[in-house]
Parts: sequence; structure tokens; C-alpha cells
Amino acid sequence: MRTGIFGGSFDPPHEGHLRAARTALQSGPLDRVLLVPCGDIPNAGKIHVPAGDRVAMLRLLAEGQPGLSVSEVEAGEARRVPTAETMKVLRARYPMDELFFIIGADKLTTLPDWKNARELFSLCSFLVLPRDGLPVLELAENARRRGASVTVLPMEETPVSSGAIQRELALRRDPAGLPDAVAAYIAGRGLYQERETEEKVLSLMTEKRFRHTLGVRTQAVLLAQKHHLPMQKASWAALLHDCAKCLPFEEMTALARSGGVTDPDLLSSPEMLHGPAGAVLARRDFGVEDPDVLNAIAYHTMGRAGMSPLEMCIFVADATEPGRREYPGLQELRELSYRDLPAAVLLSLACTRRYVEEQGKPFNPLSEKTIAWLEAAGASS
Ligand code: FE
Ligand code: FE
Repeated sequence: MRTGIFGGSFDPPHEGHLRAARTALQSGPLDRVLLVPCGDIPNAGKIHVPAGDRVAMLRLLAEGQPGLSVSEVEAGEARRVPTAETMKVLRARYPMDELFFIIGADKLTTLPDWKNARELFSLCSFLVLPRDGLPVLELAENARRRGASVTVLPMEETPVSSGAIQRELALRRDPAGLPDAVAAYIAGRGLYQERETEEKVLSLMTEKRFRHTLGVRTQAVLLAQKHHLPMQKASWAALLHDCAKCLPFEEMTALARSGGVTDPDLLSSPEMLHGPAGAVLARRDFGVEDPDVLNAIAYHTMGRAGMSPLEMCIFVADATEPGRREYPGLQELRELSYRDLPAAVLLSLACTRRYVEEQGKPFNPLSEKTIAWLEAAGASS
């Protein structure tokens, strides 16, 4: 077997990595490529996400790609492992294989100075990915003169980079160049966001409420992925949807009033009011400016006529998150939500109305309006 080893931090892995691995498979030519993420190196300062998550994302990247798999040979090492060492481990593990190390042209300059370079050169050959602006043929020739066996892969550099993806994610935008499954993994867990934000959300609520919040985030991103909605926005709105839920009622009321709420039905119900109050808080204390995200927070309790797909996504995720205690119709609602969001919102509201009326209480007129709008728009549960 001709086996390629593609190492890196993969923070996060993206389509550029995938293309490089595929090119190596085809042009190497190789029988397989092992993706080898490095471990959590202390004080490296550059790796943002723990090895466990990077391994999981790589598995998603490799899923359904013939010849690609993930090796955790370095993932558990809390240090920078010299490549010669990794190669020795793999050589012992695959004694019959011919080994190829896939590297970027930028690494080629220092290759002869790597630790135990001579030993490394005897363990594997090198497949080089060109990098813009670097004289790859010249660098390859230099490395050959120092004893390395080097082949340059025919590939243009992809305009995707982990750094650019990280910057987009920090702005809560869905970056180009990430496979859907990886993007969903990131959004569902809030990776590449400031950890303080989650801590601040937790400080506003009980632990139980926070667990619910994280469940809503998981479910909202799943729905966003299925319905092709912005996953980062779904993640953001879900994290903040109940941020005002545990506040004292007077504080909730003051927030909602400052946001322009005057409706007496709304102002008398904390169950409904924590939505609009939360939107005010999300803007004031978390810097949310996106109107769709703010509306998703504001209307997650009752919906509204004209609600957007993102609003529906948060509304339904709130009712169907994985931690929800079983209630009649939950499973049906969850399954419906994967196919038809408006129908799921309608079903959820209709169930609530029936439940409330059975208890002899009046149903919220705002939710009633949402039902009327959904029915007029042709949704059917
Ligand atoms: Fe809520
Ligand atoms: Fe909630």
C-alpha cells in the first residue's frame, strides 16, 4: 500500500484540506491518506479547539471520501511531536506500506533542519503542495540535494484557510469552504467563539436553564442544516433565546418596556415577556445587531404573523430540544420539523392551545394571531 500522511492542526479542517488530500491520492498516486491532527500543544497559542473536536471534525470531513481516514497517532500528545517520531510509529504499524508525507511548500524550506531529518528521509518520501508566491520547484530541488525524496503535486492553492474561516466564525457568519457537516458541528457547539459569552449567559440563569439552552442550540443548528438556514445565526439566537427568562419580573418588564413593548397581554405574562425582554438584553449586553436574530429571540415564545424561517427554527428547537421531557406529540413534532418548519410551528401552537384550554385557561391572543397567519399562509399540521 502507498500511504500518505497529512498532518496539521486542522483548526478547523476545510475543503482546501480535502482537495489537497484528494490530489495526493490521485497524483501521488496513493491508496490512502491518513489525516493526522496534532494534539493540544500547551503554549502553542495558535490552536483554538481541543484535539477531540478536531478529530471529530476531520472524521466528518473524511466521511464518504474513499481512501481518506483519520489517525489519532498524535492527537493525544500534549507536545509537538517530531515528524520522524510519528513516521517511526506508523512504519511499525504498517510495515509493508510505502509512506509519503504530505507537506506545504512553506515547510519545505526548513525541512533539512527538522529533528532527525536523515532518519525521516529514510522513512518516507515527500509530496509537496505548492503555495502561492513560493518557488516550489527550486525548494524541492534544494530538499532533494539534502537527501529527501520529493514530488511536487500538481495543484493550485485553494483560497480557503483555517485563519480566514476562524475570522468569519468570530463574526457569526457561515464561512465558505467548510463542508456542511463540519459547519454544523462548529455551530452546534459554539466553537471558535469567545468562551466568556457562554459564561455570561450561564450567569444569567440556572444550570438547568443553561442545559436547556445548549440543547436548543444543538437542535436549532440541526434544523438550520436541514432547511439550509444560516447555522451561525441559529446558534447565536438559540444561545441567547432565554437570556431574560430567569430575571425578576420587574426587571423583565423594564427591559421589555424599554424595547417598546406596550401590549398589556404581553406585559402581564412572564412566560411570553421573556422573549421580547431577551431581545433587548441580547442587543444591549451581547451586541446583537442582526434583526433576524433579535426577532428569533423576541418571538420564540409566541411566534408572530410574518415570522421568518430562522424565527421558526428557534421556536421549534425550543419545543423539541433533546433534553425536553417527553410530552404527548413531541416525537411527531420533531419529525415534522425536519420536513416542514411552518407546519411544525403550527402543530406546536395548536398543542399548546389545546392544553391551555383543557386547563380552563384563556389562550394567548398573540399566539392565536400566529396560528391564524400560519393557516392563511397554507401551513397545515
Ligand atoms: Fe423561552
Ligand atoms: Fe427556551
